[in-house]
Amino acid sequence: MHELPVMNGILKVVLKHATANRVSKVVAVQLRVGRLSDLKEKWMQHYFDYLTKESVAEGARLEIEWGEVVMRCSTCAKEFQTEPEASSFGICPHCEGEGGEILSGKEYYVKNMVAH
Ligand SMILES: [Zn+2]
Repeated sequence: MHELPVMNGILKVVLKHATANRVSKVVAVQLRVGRLSDLKEKWMQHYFDYLTKESVAEGARLEIEWGEVVMRCSTCAKEFQTEPEASSFGICPHCEGEGGEILSGKEYYVKNMVAH
C-alpha cells in the first residue's frame, strides 16, 4: 500500500497551504495523478481520511484528475500518448517501434484546493 506515504506527503503540502492562507477548513483537494503512478483512488481517499482526522482537512474530498501517459519513442524520437490498459501500450503510432522514455504519467501533485 504505497498510497499511505504518498498521501502523507500530499497532506503536508495541503496543510502548509492551509496555514499560509489561514484557512479554517479544507473542503476539497484537487490532485493531478499520472495514470502510471499505480495509485488507486479508493485507497488515496481512505488514507487521506485517516491522516486528516482532527486537522483542518478532515472530511475533505479528493478530486483526482488522471494524467495521460506520454512517451518519447526510442526509435523515431516522436512523442506519443499511450494507453496503459491497451495491448498497444508503449508502441509508437508513428513507426511502430516499441518502448521509449516516459515523459509523463507517473506524476502526482496538488493542483488546487478548495477551502474556506
Ligand atoms: Zn517511433
